[in-house]
Amino acid sequence: IPVDPFDLVIFGGTGDLARRKILPGLFRRFCAGQMGAESRIIGAARTDLNTQSYRDFAKDAVREFEPGGAKNAKHLKGFLELLDYVVVDAKGTQGWSDLTKAVRDDVIRAYYFSVGPSLFDDLAERLHKHKLDCPGCRIVVEKPFGHDLASAQELNQIIAKYFDEHQIYRIDHYLGKETVQNLMAIRFGNMLFEPLWNSQYIDHIQLTVAEEVGVGGRGEYYDRSGAMRDMLQNHLMQLLCLIAMEPPAKFNPDAVRDEKLKVIRALDEVAPDDVVRGQYEAAHDQAGFREQVGNPDSTTESFVAMRAHISNWRWAGTPFYLRTGKRLRERASEIAVVFKDAPHSIFDVEAGVHRNILTIKLQPNEGIELGVTIKEPGPGGMRLVDVPLDMTFAEALGPEEADFPDAYERLIMDVIRGNQTLFMRGDEVEAAWAWTDPIIAGWQERGEAPLPYASGSSGPDDALMLMHRDGRRWREIK
Ligand code: NAD
Repeated sequence: IPVDPFDLVIFGGTGDLARRKILPGLFRRFCAGQMGAESRIIGAARTDLNTQSYRDFAKDAVREFEPGGAKNAKHLKGFLELLDYVVVDAKGTQGWSDLTKAVRDDVIRAYYFSVGPSLFDDLAERLHKHKLDCPGCRIVVEKPFGHDLASAQELNQIIAKYFDEHQIYRIDHYLGKETVQNLMAIRFGNMLFEPLWNSQYIDHIQLTVAEEVGVGGRGEYYDRSGAMRDMLQNHLMQLLCLIAMEPPAKFNPDAVRDEKLKVIRALDEVAPDDVVRGQYEAAHDQAGFREQVGNPDSTTESFVAMRAHISNWRWAGTPFYLRTGKRLRERASEIAVVFKDAPHSIFDVEAGVHRNILTIKLQPNEGIELGVTIKEPGPGGMRLVDVPLDMTFAEALGPEEADFPDAYERLIMDVIRGNQTLFMRGDEVEAAWAWTDPIIAGWQERGEAPLPYASGSSGPDDALMLMHRDGRRWREIK
């Protein structure tokens, strides 16, 4: 469905995020007919470009990062004509009157703050000063949203000086993934799962976001952040909320976000021995973490695993195991909902009864799979096998529908539509920091260093122990 015409101003429009995600994503929406020729994209950054050179920049970005290839190439010229560029200094006076002239009053307007958070204050203040903060306009802000509770509160206060909460779109691109939304459809659109969705039937839940890559060129930032702040506090916690929340009364932004917030507030404090931190070592051809971040004494973690408990009626007694890390064996992200054993088996142990596991795969391919036990075909007696009921979209829906938008595309279109359901509300972000801050403070107080782990492994052995001691196992990172 096409969205209404809009002006999208991308502050930081020449940056890495704009090049890799925002511009290619917008191009795909244009190709899909969702974004019409009356809309405009205005790059705004310090870089000294003009509209023509910005269009060249966007052309290169699309060619490099948009997978549509020849199928979409015919739309490129039309897309580039929607692009404009203004040199703007977020901290100075340059460019602001040009920007005032570039935007229109009769269309939806959104400002994408694709710059570091240290510029949010300057941008918000200048938008206000130049009367660019019209009541209907929206702002999009990127992670990291704060470094801890205090800094997140400060950022929220800065933005709230000039914008209402209903105008603020805090992006967590994990929420834009098709499968993550499908998780809600599966939970609340079927009778099948919700009655079983509690500690009576679910043994435990595992959330894994494993990356094969190391910190790459983001060493300096990452050394200040670490896996807890960079991944767990936002992406994993957001996934945890969607898995664990109560059914909202309606699928609308505040109803969903109220329920997510309740989950965060019901999380127990985490005991020190329920968390394992790790840091990757050098491999034969790759530098280790400390070398990569340029800090030989770094005690920042590139891996974290933990056991979390949600203290409410639904989840008391069902642990949530979370882990994320870099330089692991494989890039694989999934949520596994592991159901309990049937209360009584009528089959011999040797027949092989399996537990049902609902797996929500996020990377590298998206899809949802339910493992069910059936009889092995053939005359060999009652032998049982575990087969996956595959709900992978490409097979079920055909290639056309399965060519679904990337998370950024979907989220940007939601901004234009004014739908905040898949964006984090300020109080959610603060509650998430309020939960992770004491864990990080505990490491600092105890002077704990992360455990070394081999690059290409599945993390430190202690992370395996976190589950072994409960008689459980992590699913293999294949
Ligand atoms: P970048 O360093 O590549 O780009 C920064 C952009 O900001 C450039 O366009 C630069 O011209 C502009 N800029 C800097 N100072 C300015 C000023 N005073 N006035 C106007 N423009 C100015 O950064 P990036 O990687 O594109 O990241 C942007 C934001 O998105 C950051 O907050 C980052 O944490 C976040 N983010 C990035 C990624 C990613 O994949 N790159 C992923 C998630 C979140």
